[in-house]
Amino acid sequence: MLVAGNWKMFKGAHEARNFATRVRHLPERTAGVEIVVCPPFVSLQATLEGLGGASLVRVYAQNVHWDLDGAFTGEVSAPMLLELGVTGALVGHSERRQHFGESDETVRMRAEAALEAGLSVIACVGETEAEREAEETESVLARQVGVLPRHDRLVIAYEPVWAIGTGRTATPETAQEAHAFIRSLYDAPVLYGGSVKPENALVLLGQPDVDGALVGGASLDPVSFEAICLAGAEAARA
Ligand code: PEP
Repeated sequence: MLVAGNWKMFKGAHEARNFATRVRHLPERTAGVEIVVCPPFVSLQATLEGLGGASLVRVYAQNVHWDLDGAFTGEVSAPMLLELGVTGALVGHSERRQHFGESDETVRMRAEAALEAGLSVIACVGETEAEREAEETESVLARQVGVLPRHDRLVIAYEPVWAIGTGRTATPETAQEAHAFIRSLYDAPVLYGGSVKPENALVLLGQPDVDGALVGGASLDPVSFEAICLAGAEAARA
């Protein structure tokens, strides 16, 4: 079971450090759950400092470039992240695909480079509302999952785009169906993402093919993030 908080473009260094200090002992109460936070690049160092060396909470970046270095203004490479103590990265988040021209091909390149450098990867996939209505969910997922490199440090996050930041959560049955389909294509842990909150976490995490959650909005508040991690521990025990 893995619960990852995606902070998006929230929390500068000061706020990130305070959050990290607050949650650094959380894994002691959430047996069976790996906890990850994904701060903005500029807050990675402060988050790591706030957690301190001994915390089991892991810090991932929200993106990573495919080259080791070079003329790529605004990008950050896997070796740079590893040097800081960052142990993984998200790739292919739908906000990157929607607003920053991320394609299946660049997602593949980012994932491959990150894995090769030694990072763990959470690769995000998911259909838009129009694609679901056109009954294209499976073909979209097959295309997005199909390009991902096979690796034991890669985890997939199923995030239906219509459920991200909208308050509209996939029903547990819809999530389970998509997760089972993804797992038939790629045998990796599959996280659910899309308006996960303390109130719906347990039922979603209780589905047989839901191996954790990628949480946006509700990961920004330590109280709700803790509650979701505790739900993960409860689901892991069941
Ligand atoms: C996300 O950013 O990955 C996400 C799922 O956001 P939210 O939980 O706010 O829907």
